[in-house]
Amino acid sequence: MSGIETTTLSLDEVHALAKQILGNAGMDDRGRDVLAEIVRKSERDGPRSHGLRMLPVYAQSFTSGYANPSANPSVKRLAPGVLSADGDNGYYQIAAEMARDQLISMARENGIAAFSCYNCHHLAGLRFDTEPLAEAGLVALAVVNSLSMVVPQGGVRPVFGTNPMSFACPRDGQDPIVWDQAAAQVALMDVRMAAAEGHDLPRPGGLDSSGQPTTDPNAILESKSLLPFGEHKGSAIALLIEIMGAALAGGTLSVDNADREAHGALNIKGGNTLIAIDPNRFPNPSFAGYVSRICAEIDGNGDARIPGDGRLKNRAASTANGVQVSTELLAQLKQLALSG
Ligand code: NDP
Repeated sequence: MSGIETTTLSLDEVHALAKQILGNAGMDDRGRDVLAEIVRKSERDGPRSHGLRMLPVYAQSFTSGYANPSANPSVKRLAPGVLSADGDNGYYQIAAEMARDQLISMARENGIAAFSCYNCHHLAGLRFDTEPLAEAGLVALAVVNSLSMVVPQGGVRPVFGTNPMSFACPRDGQDPIVWDQAAAQVALMDVRMAAAEGHDLPRPGGLDSSGQPTTDPNAILESKSLLPFGEHKGSAIALLIEIMGAALAGGTLSVDNADREAHGALNIKGGNTLIAIDPNRFPNPSFAGYVSRICAEIDGNGDARIPGDGRLKNRAASTANGVQVSTELLAQLKQLALSG
């Protein structure tokens, strides 16, 4: 954070501040414990853009009446391998926490099981949804759709959300592999940052108002149209996520997130699907060995590294030294912590 005045907070202080703000915004004890932990993990591992910085958005979603601060999700088993929740218009993570143990036992029983959730919000990194499953020895894949901002390849108006996807897999003798990425070429946060800092993006990240790809962040913010990563390939992945997220779960399609406008809300209502696979139920008794072998081929291969391992470095550093928070953001958060 060069050039910006910062204050160091320990991860416990991050957690306490998040809890205080969420409580002041009206969230009940169960919900605020879950979300404060997500904020702590985001600051600990990254993406920090989804940590403390999101607290004003969480708070606004409750005070505007857009999201339910006392959500009581209902989880139902619809088929031997299918678990579903109505999130009661609260945050997805509350329903996911309620469903996790059952999803793990279903995956162990059937070899594969899925959890999907509708009528819910998601405002965080997806890696926190998949990592606990890999820690339990399962392979996991998660998707969530969001608010339409990404234009299909060749199109002129947004259809998909920034639709992230996360994959996690256990690794012998090490923390799991956990990667997590959005379907947009450039994150909206990065476009906002380039506009604030007064420079262009390194490559076209969205469309201008005449539908032409541009590096100008202000033109992109005006059109609210981002490009998918990897041209038609990223566009196809965004479609997959829209279908596996919103359509399978029965969540709000990214193009139908109009209700939020009425509340001035900045967060998103969508559909989530989380798939858990037990490798022990699959035919290869050497699954773990295969994973180690693939990783060994990547590590030490030029500058290549295992995707997601950056989080482990961040985790070690932030656990030891705390995190640097912009003093301006901290002042805003302290205000929210005091008001109630
Ligand atoms: P990034 O492009 O920053 O990173 C994507 C993945 O690639 C990460 O797992 C990262 O892990 C890994 N990675 C980065 N650089 C390398 C490298 N050189 N070699 C190998 N792996 C690498 O993420 P995005 O901007 O696409 O997404 C940011 C976050 O925003 C995600 O957590 C996503 O879930 C979240 N998001 C949430 C939404 C929601 O609706 N809830 C909507 C959109 C995004 P690492 O650097 O740790 O190794």
